[in-house]
Amino acid sequence: MSAPLPTPLLGIVADDFTGATDIAAMLAARGMRAVQTIGVPQPGETVEADAIVVALKSRTAPAAEAVAQSRAALAWLREAGCRQFFFKYCSTFDSTDEGNIGPVAEALLADLGAGFALACPAFPANNRSVYAGHLFVGTRLLNESGMENHPLTPMKDADLVRVLGRQTTAPVGLVPFMSVRQGAAAIRDAMTRLAEQGRRFAIVDAVGNEDLMAIGAAAASHALITGGSGVAMGLPENFRASGLLPARDDAMDLPAVAGHAAVLSGSCSRATLMQVGHARSLFPVLEIDPLANPNEDAMTQAALDWARPQLGERPVVIAASAPPERVAAIQQALGRETAGALIERTLARIAEGLVAFGVRRLVVAGGETSGAVVSRLGAKRLRIGHEIAPGVPWTLAEGTGPTLKLALKSGNFGGPAFFAEAFETA
Ligand code: ADP
Repeated sequence: MSAPLPTPLLGIVADDFTGATDIAAMLAARGMRAVQTIGVPQPGETVEADAIVVALKSRTAPAAEAVAQSRAALAWLREAGCRQFFFKYCSTFDSTDEGNIGPVAEALLADLGAGFALACPAFPANNRSVYAGHLFVGTRLLNESGMENHPLTPMKDADLVRVLGRQTTAPVGLVPFMSVRQGAAAIRDAMTRLAEQGRRFAIVDAVGNEDLMAIGAAAASHALITGGSGVAMGLPENFRASGLLPARDDAMDLPAVAGHAAVLSGSCSRATLMQVGHARSLFPVLEIDPLANPNEDAMTQAALDWARPQLGERPVVIAASAPPERVAAIQQALGRETAGALIERTLARIAEGLVAFGVRRLVVAGGETSGAVVSRLGAKRLRIGHEIAPGVPWTLAEGTGPTLKLALKSGNFGGPAFFAEAFETA
């Protein structure tokens, strides 16, 4: 008989794909073997990890749908044996008065039979801090940070007690910085008092990593924690302190994968444009021009014909990325959504072709682009490895046929040399 799989400790429900990778990388860097699943796994599916992050696409879904998806994820994580649960949302608290942070948090709390959960999106390393319940991005209040103009979740109020209060049925409390600064015991006392007063949620102030560590310690016995990746920082230590998690220095080790290397870029964000520019002096780069021939089959075939003779240790780079004026011209000619979907489908099909040619290490730039590639390749899970840049780890994809290493980069992440740096470590 084979030894039983070690049961996971922490189960995370993440409201989007790159946010899921972010918290998984945070936990892996602090000694928990972490796996991100693409959507809710099948009943009975087993995943060997200390922390399992179920990546949903629920951030901007209708609230009822987000609640249903999140409850299904929680049910699977409970079945898998997790002991503590985390609802991960964005560190800019992306939501509307209809949800989805409040409705999802209330539903998860009810399913767990718990009475109270903290809410803390602070992530000081990324310039997100919470003081007096107000969320700051750098030195700006959230509602003056640019987030007030977000197309889907405009954040016009920085007072998170008020924001979350509008999304929940019970009043929301605050654990002020005064208490947080005094450490875990004071935070625990403050949360107990708020729970006794009938608060089911409390925004917790935090401006530095030491605050997040103290909050994590104070929440050791909580069934549910809600927040950004930052507040997950203190949780691995709780599991180690209680003897559930061995000290690991290999949590981020992935097996070596031999095979050709490639980069696919569908991001037009400034950081990615710099990275593609930088790559030109190092690697063969093909620019896909959807205006020249906006035909998926033709663009896919041309890119694969170009790439095939050049594949090897040195990555080939295939990019649809273009500066804003070029993107505007393409969108005007084809329509914004049609252009986006055409390029996503084309890059996903190129990825599939490259894998058929023996590419096994693949960097994808762009959040939506990554989603399209991952689903085309059939990846079910990503085992989290070392970070190439903050928030962007190498991952080992499972469910793709041949084993692949994937690095999925949200547009604005990484420095100019990101692509070269990625392949130095894979
Ligand atoms: P990011 O993470 O930078 O936002 P995404 O992949 O999420 O990147 O989004 C970029 C979107 O832009 C995708 O839908 C992609 O297909 C589209 N796109 C990529 N290149 C072009 C282009 N040259 N013209 C128009 N749209 C493009």
